[in-house]
Amino acid sequence: MNDIKLALLGSQGAGKSAVLVRFLTRRFIGEYASNANSLYHKRMSIDGRQLNLEVFDPCSQGSGARCIMEEPVDWADGFVVVYNISDRTSFIDAEDILRQIREARVDNCKGEVDVPVCLLGNKRDLCHARQVSEDEGRCLARGSRCHFQEVSAAESYQDIAGLFTQLIRQVMEHLKHR
Ligand code: GDP
Ligand code: MG
Repeated sequence: MNDIKLALLGSQGAGKSAVLVRFLTRRFIGEYASNANSLYHKRMSIDGRQLNLEVFDPCSQGSGARCIMEEPVDWADGFVVVYNISDRTSFIDAEDILRQIREARVDNCKGEVDVPVCLLGNKRDLCHARQVSEDEGRCLARGSRCHFQEVSAAESYQDIAGLFTQLIRQVMEHLKHR
């Protein structure tokens, strides 16, 4: 059994809990408790391999990476960094979080980040209120060597499931070589 630990990071209201609940339950509820850190467990199988997934969904305390980075940055085997495409501040926070992951998890021998990361531009359904272009997201991800996708937790399960599956595969591969 593989144990895999993921952490969702991003500013308050970006949709971390919505994205995670969508992945775990296929449902979008609308409002999510945000006053406590949550640790979700799920047993699943990917490519015929059983795994024990743990996902840390931190409580949000305003914007900024300040409080959310402390705990999960060493703990997690993989990160999902979420911003809201209709909120530029959340994108700036995501940039800051990616930088902090890089600083905390760089492998000094290789000079590269030693942990798989995925950047998620959430709330794609709010494109009429868009403040961050898809190109900007792609560009930030390219600079951080991470996967990128725009999704809507409100509207679709498929993209989010695909993303998590891909990240988990990457993590399994990564743990194998560690
Ligand atoms: P968190 O603080 O990052 O965990 O954000 P939440 O998951 O609590 O979501 C914040 C708010 O954004 C909630 O009211 C959600 O219903 C809403 N939300 C989350 N994802 C989406 C989305 O894809 N589209 C829209 N329109 N609203 C969303
Ligand atoms: Mg939340």
